[in-house]
Amino acid sequence: MSTKDYLEKDYYKVLGVSKTATQEEIKKSYRKLARQYHPDANKGDADSEEKFKEVSEAYDVLSDDKRRKEYDAMRSMPGAFRGQQGGGFGGFDLGDLFGQPGAGTGPGGGAGERIGDLFGGLFNRGTGGTRTTGRRPQRGADVETDVTLPFGRAMNGVTVPIKLTSEAACKSCQGTGARAGTMPRVCPRCEGTRFETRNLGNFGFQEPCKECRGRGLVVDDPCPTCKGSGRATGTRTIQARIPAGVADGQKIRLKGKGAPGENSGPNGDLYVNIKVRPHKVFGRTGDNLTLTVPVTFPEAALGSEIKVPTFQGPPVTLRLPEGTPNGRTFRVKGRGAPRRDGTKGDLLVSVDVQIPQKLDDQTREALERLRDAGGGDDLRSELLQQAREE
Ligand SMILES: [Zn+2]
Ligand SMILES: [Zn+2]
Repeated sequence: MSTKDYLEKDYYKVLGVSKTATQEEIKKSYRKLARQYHPDANKGDADSEEKFKEVSEAYDVLSDDKRRKEYDAMRSMPGAFRGQQGGGFGGFDLGDLFGQPGAGTGPGGGAGERIGDLFGGLFNRGTGGTRTTGRRPQRGADVETDVTLPFGRAMNGVTVPIKLTSEAACKSCQGTGARAGTMPRVCPRCEGTRFETRNLGNFGFQEPCKECRGRGLVVDDPCPTCKGSGRATGTRTIQARIPAGVADGQKIRLKGKGAPGENSGPNGDLYVNIKVRPHKVFGRTGDNLTLTVPVTFPEAALGSEIKVPTFQGPPVTLRLPEGTPNGRTFRVKGRGAPRRDGTKGDLLVSVDVQIPQKLDDQTREALERLRDAGGGDDLRSELLQQAREE
């Protein structure tokens, strides 16, 4: 009998009895099945022979109280046979590409942040006694990660490889922590129940056993691969498709890209928190891109046609009407961020009227003429008047 047998074979199922069956029930069921599959009664039938062997093996273990206890403990051990389905322990390191500086150093953690409990926290599940999850299909846990994208990639959409690191069961020992070929012992302190009861006056508290740290088993000869922890770090890289036009702060759900399901259960989902690095020139509000362009005072005052850049497109000509005030915004249709339906938002262009910092003689003369032509209008007379009012 090997660890592998213990982990893979459901002796209770083979004998058709419940996990709480008494020795009497086990014996009764065994006798019935043994008669049914006995080689003498099924001459030359390989299936029956195989079945007979299975039944005998199951009975060997379950009819022996000590071995049954070991078997139960091993089967109920977190991460043991569950790990084979690609599950793992809580704790998941997430990294991503584009080498954003210092994973996890920025505000909010960023990529590389450690996210707990992604696989549903094997050690937290099924506490309080016997594990009953058995082989029921279970949906994989949802996984969440941050991805930082340069502005352009967010606009165009990109496929991002996301490296997911999980702690799975160690392959060498199948999560038992015992050297291959050896078996962990049932913990003598908790007798495999994983819990011990502490008495405080009239009250009893259940807490994880100190001897085995809640595993129910103790390892005498630790697995050299995992040094007895039963865990191995596994990584997988998934390709996450980020749709065009995602905005900073958006959360994308990628169905089925989360933690693998167990026992043919569906995978969990992957949630990607999008962070977009700002562009040098373009900003964004909703589906619209924003842009501020400097214009001269004569361009704004007299009206003009100016050339403005668009994102990843040729420049467009914008007509400023006579008397354009500083800060006025113009709309360039269809040059914004892509939307889900394939259309695009607009480009909103704000003008920023510039005051010349250095005057040559010609400019100075021109401005002086402009001032004199102003006809002595006092812009501030009304302001001064209003300021005196109570
Ligand atoms: Zn114990
Ligand atoms: Zn190991």
